Amino acid sequence: MKTLNEYLVEAEKNHGHMCPGQVLGVRMAMLGCRLIGIEEPKVGKRLIVFVEIDRCAADAINTVTGCRLGRRTLKFRDFGKLAATFLNTETNEAARVIALESSRELAKQLFGHLPSKKEQQMEAYKTLPDESLFSWRRVRVNLPDADRPGHPLARVTCDECGEGVNDHREVTRGGRTLCLACAGERYYEALD
Ligand SMILES: [Zn+2]
Ligand SMILES: [Zn+2]
Repeated sequence: MKTLNEYLVEAEKNHGHMCPGQVLGVRMAMLGCRLIGIEEPKVGKRLIVFVEIDRCAADAINTVTGCRLGRRTLKFRDFGKLAATFLNTETNEAARVIALESSRELAKQLFGHLPSKKEQQMEAYKTLPDESLFSWRRVRVNLPDADRPGHPLARVTCDECGEGVNDHREVTRGGRTLCLACAGERYYEALD
């Protein structure tokens, strides 16, 4: 594993700016990897991360782990929480790490002499021990074969819209095979 400072340089490049979320996300990912016995996150293909927020820290987690949506190694669960679960697919060890609400207040108390909230938080997130920033627990993650990296397990065509659907994301309704959009989970409305 690289050092915190090395990862922060990479994180700034990858994310486009430096921010408290980069520091917290890098720390979270380094801790998560260590908890599941992964010392070199980018070596091999055993690490999968479930990230529960789509804000700054998510990019930092990508920087450290190399896990990406396009490789099926980064899973997004939109829970709106600054939390992530790290899974070692070789050993099935997994740990969920969540940022403590109290760390913001702690940043203000300890680094109040710094001019901005951003600087106070960045300094706190760089220097405080893991125990002051996060709580974590060991968890079990059931990762279906259809969610794992590798070639698609199946591909069908929706009986309604004719679009292709990979990896068993289709549903069956009244004997018809439907994509999730045609089954009612459409997030868009066609205009023409
Ligand atoms: Zn940011
Ligand atoms: Zn469809």
